[in-house]
Amino acid sequence: MKTVTLIKGDGIGPEISDAVMRIIEASGLEINWDIQTAGSEVIAEEGTPLPARVLESIKVNQVALKAPISTPIGTGFRSVNVQMRQALDLYANVRPCKNLPNVKTRYENVDLVVIRENTEDLYAGIEHKIDENTAESIKIISRKASERICRYAFEYAVEHKRKEVCCATKANICKLSDGLFLDCFRTVAAEYPKIKAREILVDNLCLQLVQDPSEFDVLVMPNLYGDIVSDLTAGLIGGLGVAQGSNIGKYGAVFEPVHGSAPDLKGKNKANPTAMLLSAIAMLRYIEEYEHADKIEKALFKVFEDGCFTEDLGGKMKTTEFRDAVIMNLG
Ligand code: ATP
Repeated sequence: MKTVTLIKGDGIGPEISDAVMRIIEASGLEINWDIQTAGSEVIAEEGTPLPARVLESIKVNQVALKAPISTPIGTGFRSVNVQMRQALDLYANVRPCKNLPNVKTRYENVDLVVIRENTEDLYAGIEHKIDENTAESIKIISRKASERICRYAFEYAVEHKRKEVCCATKANICKLSDGLFLDCFRTVAAEYPKIKAREILVDNLCLQLVQDPSEFDVLVMPNLYGDIVSDLTAGLIGGLGVAQGSNIGKYGAVFEPVHGSAPDLKGKNKANPTAMLLSAIAMLRYIEEYEHADKIEKALFKVFEDGCFTEDLGGKMKTTEFRDAVIMNLG
């Protein structure tokens, strides 16, 4: 039996985690969940929102499913998510965005993937106050990390039979940092003559994405732009409740929804578990449980086809009702 680290997270995290665990169990797949607590609830006892045991568990199991963890503001702790990605060198953040059956959005032809560099850029966390009225934050872009993420994007395109990789930067303004990222993209692109390489400025990308998202295939970009653009692309397919994500490294992977802990919905049985479930389906494919992944995906899509939605998608279903509907469709 495969062991997977499970982090139930904060806010709506425990509700959507429980829904997903129940669905996987009902599909007939047995997983040995190594449940690890993290976030604000462990600070008092362990002195940190991200205890070493959590990282150790992921290192040992090499795969984790993670619900959102909010980093308490004003406590001086760095973001748990950022720390985890850096500590485990989960360098590729992969966020596929594809229309879901019967989920009404402005566009019906969205099928793109945002691949975000996950370890550096402004997320390196190097910032300081110069004086009372001035702060400085340092943007780190290295050749090693940029080439690695661009190569990942092209390899992803080859593996998933995609036609194009588009690199988004602001190289016209950040000439040295984004200029280096773009230079790395060009170097790597030359190794993949069968995949079309395209370059775009990230502001223009945002404009074009909301005008015609069908124009885009695989997108690769530095950390901060990737964070912002992937929320935009989540909006193209129905919002944060349905946007999945994976953090992939050489020695392991952490699967998690794009959304945060949504404290406004905590304990109300209103959260949409779809983003967490799609992340879990991606996790099952990563551990090569293809049959169960396909079965659960089919059951989820059937629920949408039947017009059953949680409130964020205009429906009336509670989290637990949605969970039970998916379970019913597992057949
Ligand atoms: P954090 O600080 O952890 O990022 P946040 O509330 O600022 O949390 P998100 O949690 O990403 O940001 O989401 C913003 C809003 O989107 C939430 O307040 C909630 O109303 C909605 N939302 C997010 N995820 C879901 C979900 N799974 N189901 C339903 N609504 C959601």
